[in-house]
Amino acid sequence: MNLSSALHSKIFHIVNICSNKIKQESYVIGGYVRDFLLGKKNSRDLDILTIGEGIRLAKEVSRYIIPIPKIQVFKRFGTAMLEYNNQKIEFVGARRESYHFYSRKPIIELGSLQEDQKRRDFTINSLAISLNNDNYGELIDPFGGMLDLKKKILRTTLDSDITYSDDPLRMMRAIRFSTELQFMIEKSSFKSIKKNKNRINIVSKERIIDEFNKILLSKKPSIGLSLLYKSGLLSIILPELTSLQGIEELNGYKHKDNFDHTLQVIDNISKEKSNSIWLRWAALLHDIGKSHTKKFVPEIGWTFHSHEFVGSKMIPNIFQRLKLPKGMIMKYVKKMIKNSYRPVALIKDETSDSAIRRLLFDMREDIEDLIKLCIADITTKNKEKKDRYKRNIFVLMDRIKKLEERDRIKNWKSPISGNDIMNVFNVHPCKKIGIIKNFIKDSILEGKIPNEFNSAYLLMLKKGEELGFKKKQ
Ligand code: ATP
Ligand code: MG
Repeated sequence: MNLSSALHSKIFHIVNICSNKIKQESYVIGGYVRDFLLGKKNSRDLDILTIGEGIRLAKEVSRYIIPIPKIQVFKRFGTAMLEYNNQKIEFVGARRESYHFYSRKPIIELGSLQEDQKRRDFTINSLAISLNNDNYGELIDPFGGMLDLKKKILRTTLDSDITYSDDPLRMMRAIRFSTELQFMIEKSSFKSIKKNKNRINIVSKERIIDEFNKILLSKKPSIGLSLLYKSGLLSIILPELTSLQGIEELNGYKHKDNFDHTLQVIDNISKEKSNSIWLRWAALLHDIGKSHTKKFVPEIGWTFHSHEFVGSKMIPNIFQRLKLPKGMIMKYVKKMIKNSYRPVALIKDETSDSAIRRLLFDMREDIEDLIKLCIADITTKNKEKKDRYKRNIFVLMDRIKKLEERDRIKNWKSPISGNDIMNVFNVHPCKKIGIIKNFIKDSILEGKIPNEFNSAYLLMLKKGEELGFKKKQ
């Protein structure tokens, strides 16, 4: 089959010229070919395979591009990367790999095109298109990748047990591709993932999270999360999530399956068209406190009292274990979980403006994300209830919008600073300054004074004097 229509970018002609010049055969291989055959225009990156040295070809190619791009060389792997038209282009020499059982780092030797195609994880990822003069544009498909693409099947190029045991990250990749492309993992291959699941422990957290995040960022993350669950991988990576699975019934009282519920919430968030990976993490973990707070109360049923609070406390450990970012990002996820029920609690006619102002003050610019999470959290199958819950949230959003327009709480900064207080009363830093500042903040949030300097100043004088300060003359 000739696929020269896949080679419209100038870069392929440049590689063709350079390959001829240095007498190294070259091919475009992997994701780009797969995505082209699937009709996808924007492949994440482009892999060029050459029979010989990848670094040598990259250097040659760079000389034909204006301005000459910088080449990133990875000597240890024998690969080189350059950017062309905002696309990352990776050059790699064909190789053969063999693995040691206790490590995922292979022993690498130079190899032929077919040996290189064989070491690629799935048949659909082993497809190559020739960039050589004698068969330019020809599809080279020794493992039936094209047929698997048509059948929407993920099949390993080699025996599945060997593939997954050699580099256990491929188990995550199988599930990730299955989620992104909505392909089936071949039955025997999935069995092999179940069998090899514990080998995931030899893979670094960074590589695992890379694939996990791609699953979370897909259109329907629940596909991947269910596969991770069924394979047994999820209970190794995130046991906090799998422990939410299950329904218990006592004296006629039942609670929902919180794992299934979580999957629906994360699919809902994805439909909301939010591409924020951290909002998706917040959705994923928003109920993890439930397994620790579950209680049966006679005459009432199952309760999960304070699960948002308990769940948010679990975040630092999870983030540390999975090597997820600390600092602002972790704080954001924690905050989202901790406050995940507050908007719903505010849905009452008699809710005061000050309660809404407090929520705005605590959430600041993350209020929109919190509302998105609350909407995604509505998973009831009862249409009447669902519509009512959504309507309630829209009414709340309207109140939030109006209050924000009037009182500007989201970017609130106290009209009076600690320095102002120290200057006016001629005092050094002490606890009382904080008390005055908090008093001003509370009075504004409670609507006792407007959010402006003069009123805050008068209040500061009053509170300061109450605390024994005297205004500087
Ligand atoms: P995408 O870039 O869309 O995530 P991709 O298939 O291009 O998908 P990459 O991680 O960019 O994935 O890898 C490029 C190619 O390298 C793959 O298509 C596959 O042929 C091969 N490959 C990547 N990782 C592995 C692995 N762990 N085991 C075997 N082959 C791999
Ligand atoms: Mg790629």
